[in-house]
Amino acid sequence: MNLRSPLQIAIDGPAASGKTTVARALARRLRVLYLDTGAMYRALAYLALRTGTDVDNGAALARLVAAQPIEVRLDQAAPLGFCITAGGQELDEAALQSKEVTAIVSAVAAHAEVRSAMVRAQRHIAQGSPVVMAGRDIGTVVLPGARVKIYLTASPEARIARRRAQLEESGVNVDARKLAEEIQERDRLDETRAVSPLAPAHDAHVIDSSDIDAAGVVEEICRLASS
Ligand code: C5P
Repeated sequence: MNLRSPLQIAIDGPAASGKTTVARALARRLRVLYLDTGAMYRALAYLALRTGTDVDNGAALARLVAAQPIEVRLDQAAPLGFCITAGGQELDEAALQSKEVTAIVSAVAAHAEVRSAMVRAQRHIAQGSPVVMAGRDIGTVVLPGARVKIYLTASPEARIARRRAQLEESGVNVDARKLAEEIQERDRLDETRAVSPLAPAHDAHVIDSSDIDAAGVVEEICRLASS
C-alpha cells in the first residue's frame, strides 16, 4: 500500500440502505478504521436541540459547531465503531438515533457552512489512516479520489424492514408507516438540497442490497477493492 495515499473506501446511499452495517464489517475485515459521517451531522443536530439553535440558520449552526466542536476518535472496539463527542460530551447511539435528532438532521445538514466544517474534519481524519467512510457525499465531495466508491441502495420495503428491526433491537417500537414517511422525507431533503445533494459519484459502483445480505455486499466490495 502506498503510504502517501492510504486506502479510502467511500460508501454512500440513501437512509437505511445498510451503509453502516456494511461499512463497519468491511473495515473490520480489512483491518482499517471506520467512520459513519452521519453521526457527525446527528451530533450537531443534538447540540442544536440542546442549545435551542434554529436549524434553519446556517450561520448560527456554524457558530455552534465552532464553539462546541464535534470530535471523533476512531476506535473499532467502541460500541459505535468510533467515539464521538459534541462540546465535550460523549454521545451514544440512543442520543444520536433519537426521534428528535432524526427529525431535524437533514435540515441541519443542508447548510453550506455546516457542510464545509464537516467535510474539512472528515478529510483530516482520512489523511491519517486507511479508512472506510460512510455517508451521502463521501464519493462525490469528501474523498473524490477514494480507491473504491460504492453507492448502496435497496428497495423501500427492504430499507424499512431493516431499520425497523434495528430500532426494535435497541428497544424502540416503531410504526412502519411513520418510519416509511420519515425515510422518504429524509431522502427527499438529502437528494434535493442545493449543496452536495445525495447522488452516486460518476465512478461509483451501484450495489442494490435488497436481496443480498451485508456479508455478501462486503464480499463484493472486497472483490472490487482488490481488482
Ligand atoms: O446516515 P444517517 O442516516 O445517520 O445520516 C443522517 C443525516 O445526516 C442524513 O439524512 C443526511 O441529512 C446527513 N448526512 C449528510 N452527509 C453525510 C452523512 C449524513 O448530509 N455524509
